[in-house]
Amino acid sequence: MALIVQKFGGTSVGSVERIQAVAQRVSKTVKAGNSLVVVVSAMGKTTDGLVKLASEISQNPNRREMDMLLSTGEQVTIALLSMALQEIGQPAISMTGAQVGIVTEAEHTRARILHIETDRLLRHIKEGKVVVVAGFQGISRTGELEITTLGRGGSDTSAVALAAAIQADFCEIYTDVPGILTTDPRLVPEAQLMDAITCNEMLELASLGAKVLHPRSVEIARNYGVPLVVRSSWTDDPGTWVTSHKPQERSLINLEIARPVDAVEFDTNQARVALLRVPDKPGVAAKLFGEIARQNVDVDLIIQSIHEGNSNDIAFTVTTPILKRAEAVASAIAPALRNPAKPNSDEAEVMIEQDVAKVSISGAGMIGRPGVAAKMFATLAAAGVNIQMISTSEVKVSCLVNATDCDRAVAALSNAFEIAAKGEVEETITREQEVVPCPPSPAPCPVSSPVRGVALDMNQARLAIRQVPDKAGMAAKLFGILAQHNISVDMIIQSQRCRIIDGVPKRDIAFTVPRMDGETAQKLLTQVAAELGWGEVVLDSAIAKVSIVGAGMVGQPGVAAKMFEALAQHQINIQMIATSEIKISCVVAQEQGVKALQVIHAAFDLAGSEKFVVPA
Ligand code: ADP
Ligand code: ASP
Ligand code: MG
Repeated sequence: MALIVQKFGGTSVGSVERIQAVAQRVSKTVKAGNSLVVVVSAMGKTTDGLVKLASEISQNPNRREMDMLLSTGEQVTIALLSMALQEIGQPAISMTGAQVGIVTEAEHTRARILHIETDRLLRHIKEGKVVVVAGFQGISRTGELEITTLGRGGSDTSAVALAAAIQADFCEIYTDVPGILTTDPRLVPEAQLMDAITCNEMLELASLGAKVLHPRSVEIARNYGVPLVVRSSWTDDPGTWVTSHKPQERSLINLEIARPVDAVEFDTNQARVALLRVPDKPGVAAKLFGEIARQNVDVDLIIQSIHEGNSNDIAFTVTTPILKRAEAVASAIAPALRNPAKPNSDEAEVMIEQDVAKVSISGAGMIGRPGVAAKMFATLAAAGVNIQMISTSEVKVSCLVNATDCDRAVAALSNAFEIAAKGEVEETITREQEVVPCPPSPAPCPVSSPVRGVALDMNQARLAIRQVPDKAGMAAKLFGILAQHNISVDMIIQSQRCRIIDGVPKRDIAFTVPRMDGETAQKLLTQVAAELGWGEVVLDSAIAKVSIVGAGMVGQPGVAAKMFEALAQHQINIQMIATSEIKISCVVAQEQGVKALQVIHAAFDLAGSEKFVVPA
């Protein structure tokens, strides 16, 4: 007999018949001898409908009132499902987030869970009832009692947090697809189902646009070691297990906000190669990294900043022992990247920097918490450390700094985040590959392809600040301001090119933010630009971000080249590139986003023979 949390998404409870089918499945699970907490979403597109109603009344609706409005959707479903269960003879009781005691912060429309009271829940379970809980909502108790919601898609997070709180044996997410697929089957019907995926990979995929799981639910599963599976509401197929290893014991107090950073890591064995002023046209990155892959040079981070005029800078890091080889390849390819009409121009200049180190903070708790990266930059600034390159992922922020600054940087970061630093070259590889599945059903297959999934995010905007003084503290200022307004930043890229203006070295910084925050971010930064000596703040909302994710990319030359090559073959220009150990993201023009996703998915042979049709 197991204690299970089952969550059913909007489509799965979209009609009376579907609610009745869910009741049948729940009752079957109980009859098999299990105890159940069931979490449900609002029926079908109810939440979208409510958002639309609000927008017809106000352009900028009050966030407290939005929570009041949106939380009603789930309340309908809990009552109906509870009735459907009672109708077939299964004792059940519905409960709102407030009735359970899902206590959250007071941040309306994006509240994080602080803790969950389990007494009443467990009492009803003991009485033999199925407890049907409203997903997506909670209650804040700082000051007055207030209904809060967790952010769109947040019912997954409610379910996994409940599973952690009651120490359920596992958590099942039932949805309208058979599990986690290599990409969104609505865009690529040949997407293939995976048996299993690691929490770290899923965290990236979810945050990069794979809507099948709310990223924060994966974060909780990872932090508390909750066995998690995504399955189809329409079949009994096993679905996809999201695997993690047994985490350290963690308190259930401050469930979503405690300890965002687990470790400070460093690697002094790094060198940087940059190619300055390469043409801004399709195929350049493919040519460069194709040659690098053919020479079997394994690159670590890759960054391509936004174009200036009609040229880009591309930089990458390699480990010091292979620097010579990497430099030789870059120098050999450089002439081919120059404009043949102007052979003596300053295009495609190769620049090497040997004495660099990479310092990183890592931990699952950084998602949607822009203050964490801002704190890292502020800490480095206070220690007088200038940042040369920044790479962000959902579970890690890495900065390239001068090798001589490394010890100081690590000490300052360990102190700021209250953790002991981990040794030289943290073995992310083994950590990523370690798979501890917890399924009571079939074990997952071993992972073979270096790329597990491809994701598309069409909800980002890009901001660029021109001519930011190249000195310690600028990134801290910039991201501090955005963090104060709770604006999450992704793909932070500084240009490699440094221009001396009035005696001050200056670089451009570009980054992406959620599209809905684009204009606010632009306004906030423009207000301080003059005072900080920055140039213009430029916003571009017509972008798409396409990403590949896979723990197997580490130590595998050629993965990036293949992605860039696929885009080049279809004449898709890459506007920005950013990577972490387990992902590569490219920004492209918005109208090319879907095409980019499709050609990359095909390039990595991820397509299966079966086609998925997602039910309406
Ligand atoms: P629910 O209402 O059950 O929470 P969602 O609509 O939030 O369902 O999430 C399921 C949808 O996620 C699928 O219908 C699919 O279109 C989309 N999706 C995006 N990326 C993926 C992926 N990699 N695997 C599976 N589904 C995905
Ligand atoms: N009903 C909410 C939404 O549509 C929460 C969820 O379904 O997860 O965003
Ligand atoms: Mg969902």
